[in-house]
Amino acid sequence: MSDLIRLLPEHIANQIAAGEVIQRPASVVKEMMENAIDAGADKIHVVIKDAGRTLIRIVDNGNGMSPNDAVMCFDRHATSKVRSADDLFTLTTKGFRGEALASVAAIAHVSMQTRREEDDTGRSIVVEGTKIKSNDACVCPLGTTFDVKNLFFNVPARRNFMKSDNVEFNHIREEFERVVLAHPNLSFTLTHNDIEIYQLHQGGLRKRIADILGKGANDKLVPVEEKTDIVSLTGFVLKPEFARKSRGEQYLFVNDRYFRDNNLGHAVSKAFEGLLAPKNFPGYFLYLTIDPKKIDVNVHPTKTEIKFEEDRHIYMIILSAVKQTLGKYNVMPSLDFDQETSFDLPYSMKNQPVVEPEIKVNPMYNPFQSNSGKGSSSGFTKAVSAQGFGNNTASPQDWENFYSIEEESNSEQGILFDSEEEATESRETLIKDRYLITTCRSGLLMIDIQRAFERMVYDDLFNRFISNPIESQNLLFPVEKNVSKEELSAWEEQEQMLKRLGFQWEIRDDTLMLTAVPSVLVQESIQVCLDLILEEIAFKAIDKGDIAHLIVRSVATAAGKKKHQLSGAAAEQFIELLFACPEHALSPSGKKIMQTLTLDEISNRL
Ligand code: ADP
Ligand code: MG
Repeated sequence: MSDLIRLLPEHIANQIAAGEVIQRPASVVKEMMENAIDAGADKIHVVIKDAGRTLIRIVDNGNGMSPNDAVMCFDRHATSKVRSADDLFTLTTKGFRGEALASVAAIAHVSMQTRREEDDTGRSIVVEGTKIKSNDACVCPLGTTFDVKNLFFNVPARRNFMKSDNVEFNHIREEFERVVLAHPNLSFTLTHNDIEIYQLHQGGLRKRIADILGKGANDKLVPVEEKTDIVSLTGFVLKPEFARKSRGEQYLFVNDRYFRDNNLGHAVSKAFEGLLAPKNFPGYFLYLTIDPKKIDVNVHPTKTEIKFEEDRHIYMIILSAVKQTLGKYNVMPSLDFDQETSFDLPYSMKNQPVVEPEIKVNPMYNPFQSNSGKGSSSGFTKAVSAQGFGNNTASPQDWENFYSIEEESNSEQGILFDSEEEATESRETLIKDRYLITTCRSGLLMIDIQRAFERMVYDDLFNRFISNPIESQNLLFPVEKNVSKEELSAWEEQEQMLKRLGFQWEIRDDTLMLTAVPSVLVQESIQVCLDLILEEIAFKAIDKGDIAHLIVRSVATAAGKKKHQLSGAAAEQFIELLFACPEHALSPSGKKIMQTLTLDEISNRL
């Protein structure tokens, strides 16, 4: 039998490859806009006729091409952007595969005019189904103009696959928006059937997002900002009340490139947890900047999926940054979890810029050590006693020392009580060590202390352990537990996370011995904590994004299970710290922390 394998003719190979990159008119728009940006253009016009069936024209004022390059650019794997394999790992351009123009040329009629600054005449080239039909000198402005006509003229299956003009134009608009949102410093226009859809002038990010979102958008946005060694993050989230039932307004960018990532999207949703009505999706525009070596853009032909080397950390960073934003800007739940908590609270936060009380953490803190032994001259100790936190006698339970507030912190920092003349008097009452009751403008505010404490510990630990390992305390006597094989392997699987949180251990046969724990745990809550963590990680199917949340929540829950002694000033401080948490109304397990009893309700009952 003769040999069967044959090489495909080039035009067929090109057509097949084109199918990967160019799925519909919108793909042409995306690839060509990106080429214009790579060519250094700062004004880009996109002109569309009949949703791209009749014409896609992209006009740029970029660098243009030399007469040779103007022909070369239509060859497969022709690119000016990658010279060696190493370049693939330091990419700063959008394109690099040298496939887009070859693909478009294989399945459409393309004409192009291009001129560089140093050339008096430009080049005009016509290509149809990979064949160069003409190549002439021409007079044309600086930059490059592409006209793409008769898309899929030689691929009937693709042509038939196209949807209505409405649908196809929506795809074009979507790709256009993704590109322009990544480049607020450039000007763009989009015209469809002679109607101008967008005219976008260069400006700041906020303005660009507002231009795309439309009227009133500016009031919907709250900024997100975070800088770490791994990644810097900037951008905006939409306030929860503008969340929608569709995922339309969710944008992630990395190094000025739009990408899709369910996992990182989940981090944002997680940060919004408890703030959205059911089935609503948060809106966000988040921009990551990261060393190009740490991402791989080359995992998908259209480059909208990206692999991150440190995806877990990035997940945490996004989660924490968005949470902080929601807290800092005092974004309240849109959820109507009982109208009592509709934040008609005593605190006139709404019209004031809110500054978070600064939470200081003492890395030297040891709950088994007496305060007095540490020398009361330290700023930390002074701050603690000024706030009425802690006891002067040794007490293993003075967890409050874990937090301290800057001495100069004052009521301007957000939470103002209704009648300030009363501020010197204590208005908080403790009921059976479980509830704190305080007066507020509308009546009485009742707080579940244990849940509130869980929330505070949870937020604090979570925010800190993302950037640094948590300080731990060595145990004089290890806390031991007999564990099953499954429990042990689940525990070891989370080794990195647990160590980062401050746990150290040894394993002997089937005994897990904790030798150090996060310092927020007091002796009697360690066993509880161990049980809780094992229960969370060993017997439930959990996705990886949830593990940190579950472990930190276990620590917070265990830390909360203790007697809370809140004297007057400490109680006030406690409330203040609680309200500094973005989700102060719900515990990490989603239980209600507070409830108000209005004057009307009280008088109805009496
Ligand atoms: P890639 O962008 O991956 O390099 P393309 O097929 O999209 O591959 O483009 C091939 C080459 O053609 C580019 O590397 C660039 O040199 C050139 N080119 C394409 N579009 C433009 C443009 N608008 N202005 C200047 N040069 C361009
Ligand atoms: Mg390209």
